[in-house]
Amino acid sequence: MDLILMGLPGAGKGTQAEKISEKYNIPHISTGDMFRLAIKEGTDLGKKAKQFMDQGDLVPDEVTIGIVDERLRKDDCQNGFLLDGFPRTIAQAEALQTLLSNMDEDIDCVLHVDVPEEQLVKRLTGRRICPTCGATYHVMYNPPKKEGICDKDGSELIQREDDTPETVKNRLAVNIEQTKPLLDYYQEKGYLVTIDGNKEIDAVFQDIQTKIEK
Ligand SMILES: [Zn+2]
Repeated sequence: MDLILMGLPGAGKGTQAEKISEKYNIPHISTGDMFRLAIKEGTDLGKKAKQFMDQGDLVPDEVTIGIVDERLRKDDCQNGFLLDGFPRTIAQAEALQTLLSNMDEDIDCVLHVDVPEEQLVKRLTGRRICPTCGATYHVMYNPPKKEGICDKDGSELIQREDDTPETVKNRLAVNIEQTKPLLDYYQEKGYLVTIDGNKEIDAVFQDIQTKIEK
């Protein structure tokens, strides 16, 4: 079961990734975790990646792809894997294809958790934080007992600047522009499976299972 998971911020990708990983006994491999592991293990590629990251530079594709290669060869990938955050570009997608065919593997499907932009804005702007104790709430999904007030200490909740509509819309626009070519690429290759992410968590997961198993 070799899977790639795609979706915009707020689409609930992380939650679904956990469920998929548990159900199919495959590791959820996010790009960040992959780099952290390579750096912690002190592999040659990990060291190279760290040099770039320490300088605030993007890690070049050849290093990233090498790290992906090493990661996918680990024992826990025997049943497959769920990649999250890689590939980001068509060049990376093509490199992944080569790498997998060298291992006699292929992608089974690319799951795209699709949520309408306006719904994402609602989700992402609904977060509220208590400045006193750090508790987080969501106006729709996890509201405090009394609107705008922390349950624990009665402080007035605030909205972080990252969560304001303007910032959220900009972030989404950048993400949409970046992922569009990759979605088109996988669509053309016949790997793309679109999942309606605008439902309850369990209903989304049910759809994912149905589509994976088909
Ligand atoms: Zn509080």
